[in-house]
Amino acid sequence: MSENRSEIKQLGEFGLIDRIRQNFSLANSSSLTGIGDDAAVIDIGGECLLVTTDMLLEGIHFDLAFTPLHHLGYKAVAANVSDIAAMNGKAEQITVSIALSNRFSIEAVDALYAGIKAACDNYKVDLIGGDTTASASGLVISITALGRAKKEAIAYRTGAQPNDIICVTGDLGAALAGLQVLEREKEVFLANPLMQPDLEKYEYVVGRQLKPEARTDIVFDLADAGVKPTAMIDVSDGLASELFHIATSSNVGIRIYEDKVPIDNSTYETAVEFKLDPITCALNGGEDYELLFTITKSDQEKIKNHPDIHFIGYAHERKSENVLITKQGTIVPLTAQGWDHFK
Ligand code: ADP
Ligand code: MG
Repeated sequence: MSENRSEIKQLGEFGLIDRIRQNFSLANSSSLTGIGDDAAVIDIGGECLLVTTDMLLEGIHFDLAFTPLHHLGYKAVAANVSDIAAMNGKAEQITVSIALSNRFSIEAVDALYAGIKAACDNYKVDLIGGDTTASASGLVISITALGRAKKEAIAYRTGAQPNDIICVTGDLGAALAGLQVLEREKEVFLANPLMQPDLEKYEYVVGRQLKPEARTDIVFDLADAGVKPTAMIDVSDGLASELFHIATSSNVGIRIYEDKVPIDNSTYETAVEFKLDPITCALNGGEDYELLFTITKSDQEKIKNHPDIHFIGYAHERKSENVLITKQGTIVPLTAQGWDHFK
């Protein structure tokens, strides 16, 4: 063995992906976009094929102590559909691969696939294949989604221009707030199994953690309004991290306003209860699966009355100057502390 051993956490997840990417180039002219966006883009003649894949591991991405298997199945599909939506495309097929330890019964697999089926029905995608294998420990689920979009409609992370308006859908930070509640209830339950959690007050945030939805509706709404985002990404790792991806890929700087970042009241209240700053939940919480995109100023008028699209800031030409203007008017640098599994 070589003397040199470098820890992966020195690079982090994105550094590691970049390192892998540097050693590969695209040889086929049909490979329009490879590593580096929410989905790969393949020219198949006519429309483009979009491909994305995501792997979820028990103990890393989900905790079965508080995640019902059917919710997990649903969420795994939604996360992939979301990546296709983030390209401004429509998901049409998925493949699902699972690895199971002997802890899992047939009924458990049925429950997982009931969730997968519910998502397939909801998003109108077809399960077309996959792989099944044993696992030494725990459950692994890996889904690949295939989608399509017209070549000229595809929204990459690279297209934001100075003065473009930064938009985000829905509200942010709820999934992280929900996770806090579930983790606390798990501890309470472990200490006293007779305690029944009262989650009613936290219904919204817990729902956002356990059963997120991909914003396929927004892709339709934007097309209806005649708006093509100049850049787009889905919020899976936290707003700050996704803003950095757009800023870096597009070679722009970004400026967002704290008071414009949409945070639901129940997220706000839960965050405060857990002594977390709500804006930090929105910036750094993962798994909201909202869409973050930029539009030209001239398109702003077309979607200004959309109830679920919020204008949170704008792009500018001073790249790497990525800042948040606080409610008090202070300018603070944004830090991209998204979810990084190697930290
Ligand atoms: P997302 O959060 O949108 O799912 P990721 O951060 O997981 O995106 O991945 C970013 C890009 O890196 C994608 O294009 C993805 O396909 C690619 N990627 C991630 N891991 C690997 C890997 N191990 N080998 C090659 N490409 C990878
Ligand atoms: Mg994504």
